[in-house]
Amino acid sequence: MSKARLFDLSLFAGSLAIAFGARHAVVLDPAYLKALILCWAFSSFYFQLRIVTRSGNSTIDYAISYTSSFGIFAGPLGTFWLEVLYRFTVFFYKKKTKTADPGEFLDTLYNIGSFTLGGSAGYYLYTLLYPYAAKLPLGYWLLFFLVVCVTTFLSSGFLVITCALSGDITTRKEAMNLLLHSRNLLDFSKVALSNALLLRLLQMGKWEMLIALFLLNYIVSISFYSKSQSARHKFERDKFEQMAYRDFLTGTFNRAHMDKMMKELNHSGEHIGILVADIDRFKKINDTYNHAVGDRVITHFAHTLQAHMQDEDILFRSGGEEFTMFLRHKSFGECRTQIQGILDTIAGHSTTAEYEDQWINVVYTASFGLYYYQAAPGQKTSMEKAYVYADQLLLESKKLGRNRLRYTNELEV
Ligand code: GH3
Ligand code: MG
Ligand code: MG
Repeated sequence: MSKARLFDLSLFAGSLAIAFGARHAVVLDPAYLKALILCWAFSSFYFQLRIVTRSGNSTIDYAISYTSSFGIFAGPLGTFWLEVLYRFTVFFYKKKTKTADPGEFLDTLYNIGSFTLGGSAGYYLYTLLYPYAAKLPLGYWLLFFLVVCVTTFLSSGFLVITCALSGDITTRKEAMNLLLHSRNLLDFSKVALSNALLLRLLQMGKWEMLIALFLLNYIVSISFYSKSQSARHKFERDKFEQMAYRDFLTGTFNRAHMDKMMKELNHSGEHIGILVADIDRFKKINDTYNHAVGDRVITHFAHTLQAHMQDEDILFRSGGEEFTMFLRHKSFGECRTQIQGILDTIAGHSTTAEYEDQWINVVYTASFGLYYYQAAPGQKTSMEKAYVYADQLLLESKKLGRNRLRYTNELEV
């Protein structure tokens, strides 16, 4: 048996010893039985909602734990029976739903041991300090905060030890992370307040209010859980959308996104310059060197275009070595100045690329076509048409000798 498993079993043995060895074993009176059934029912109910994260092979549970208040109310033996009842309910639930891990039985013993010991520590701390705390203003509540901190750190400490022994965590940093950062002050306050209220209600036998407190916690958790779920789904959706609309090589938007944006901008009423830019004699670069060098040139070209973008301009890789830029919210003259800047930058720079174990300089030029017009509903020119016109202007640039811009301003024709 592994060291981690021996540790888990020793925790369980420790909980047995403290539960049955302690003299002040709780009597099985009706109040205890009522509390036991209620806490067990709600903890099991709550189990569905727990917010968990995975660390290596271990699952860490962030649901509100009622261990502290129940521990103080019922003592070590009372806590032990609640843990046995609750953890085995979870065990059989997981078996039935086929979600149990291979070591689920030993995990169950570990949980019983860890939480009974945590609850018992809370019980002794509370019994020791209550006479003093009761004399202080807000002493009862502050004491609970302390009890919850100790109980939680004890359970987290056990978790760190078992994870370290099983090799799930290997560095001191991971251990500290698990011990300290996985829970924050808000979590502590939530658990401390709930437990402090719960203990008072248990002691007073206010069963209706106790159920209301459980329900309140349950409802708050459900709304938090569903919000966190929908935030996660949105994050995943956004990420997926980002991947679907991005070009892998250059990180610019791709053709699919361009088609979507064209549809949107058709209704915008904006003055817009559609610029199509294409690297000159690119095939020769591929043939002279190789595709990797060609890719470097494409990336360099994309970065140069990006560096010249302004405000709300959008850049797309619309084909292999062809890029399209929507120049927005500026005059025709401003568009031309911007493009001249790109031409000047390319003429003055070369890009480096690795070729046959050497760094080489690759010089290239590009040609441009610009179509400027107003995108508005009901116009004879749509974005899709304007893009075709800009592409034709690019071809003219090519025919006229490349490394230049050809343009049309529809608003001045
Ligand atoms: P022009 O000046 O008329 O534009 O000539 P060109 O050689 O640039 O144009 P052409 O369309 O004949 O060749 C483009 C080449 O770009 C063909 C294709 O193999 C290459 N290409 C397309 N996508 C990629 C890519 O992602 N990486 C690399 N390295 N090459 C690509
Ligand atoms: Mg080309
Ligand atoms: Mg091309």
